[in-house]
Amino acid sequence: MGFLLNVIEKSAVDDHPLANLTHCVNRNQKHLSCSACMDICPKGVYDKTQKTAPDWNACQNCDLCVTACATRCIAPSPTNAKRHLLLAQKQGEIVISCRRSEKKEGHLEECLAQLPWEFMAYLALGGRLTLNVKACQSCPHEDCRELLSDQIQKLRRFLGAEKWEKHVCLAQEEEAAAMQTDVDRRAFFKSLAHGGKKTTALVISEATGSKIDAMVYRRMLARRVKEIAAQDQACSFTMTLPWIEKTCYGCGICALLCPNRALEVDEEKEGRRTVYITPQKCTGCGVCKAVCRDGCIEELCAAKLPHLDKLILAKVESKSCEGCGRAMPVNKEDGMCIICRQKKKGKAK
Ligand code: SF4
Ligand code: SF4
Ligand code: SF4
Repeated sequence: MGFLLNVIEKSAVDDHPLANLTHCVNRNQKHLSCSACMDICPKGVYDKTQKTAPDWNACQNCDLCVTACATRCIAPSPTNAKRHLLLAQKQGEIVISCRRSEKKEGHLEECLAQLPWEFMAYLALGGRLTLNVKACQSCPHEDCRELLSDQIQKLRRFLGAEKWEKHVCLAQEEEAAAMQTDVDRRAFFKSLAHGGKKTTALVISEATGSKIDAMVYRRMLARRVKEIAAQDQACSFTMTLPWIEKTCYGCGICALLCPNRALEVDEEKEGRRTVYITPQKCTGCGVCKAVCRDGCIEELCAAKLPHLDKLILAKVESKSCEGCGRAMPVNKEDGMCIICRQKKKGKAK
């Protein structure tokens, strides 16, 4: 444990979240804008004009911005990361309450909205997670209630109805949950007991080799999912991913502007391209949908996945523009991409 505390303390000098704004939705494109961190922050740390750096002196270290960030580009503060990674080493039943709760059971958080859904999923899949949400109903902080409700929805969608029932309990459902007989759960805990510890240790050593980043909970979750999949091949998890239409010709703009580099486009041979996605990295931010010039990503859809590693999203056909060689749709008879066509029109005028 000493090792753990030391390495985490080395990860940042000051105790506040660390924003890596190179992954911010607003950084490289203007089609979609995000202000989630500015809207949720109770202390006005983030400059709404986005011209100056965050004012960390005002920060109260609540980590609400970490949970709210659409692209997971804000890493938890060292103190919060330390508390969470210590909690992640526990197996079996984990109860989390907020400090406003009458019964302060289990692990205490200032606000339950400090818990990103990926971290809750990691804990839940290690046994059973009980969230004591009774105090939330009368909480005056509407933003926090909304944020928590959004994270719980994402958690529920990811796990699916069966695993949700088995692994998560919201406090008001406590009685019903206690009545569930759980013969399989014991076997499940036992099978995970070794792998779970190994996962946390691996992720911690990986994350603290340089610093704790905002993807740390996602990496932990991806490893846990892999362990579960190794034992139960029929197991699946649901994530919201872009749906690529047949009209896609693999220009790669979405991959270039995806804040998390979740998409890749490979040209395997002339006229044939493959679009890959790594669900572990995709936060469902919608930038890819917003930047596709040809509207080839109409929707982000729920996809059932056996793991969160790289997979093929689409195989598409394209041809090369006669002017610049860029990929273009196969059905354009003039053989020119939209940019070259516009240039040609401009010259003709
Ligand atoms: S931790 Fe809380 S106070 Fe600090 S920047 Fe984030 S939301 Fe604002
Ligand atoms: S929440 Fe994240 S993506 Fe959105 S503006 Fe803040 S840093 Fe950028
Ligand atoms: S693939 Fe699309 S939705 Fe997923 S993180 Fe990248 S831009 Fe966002």
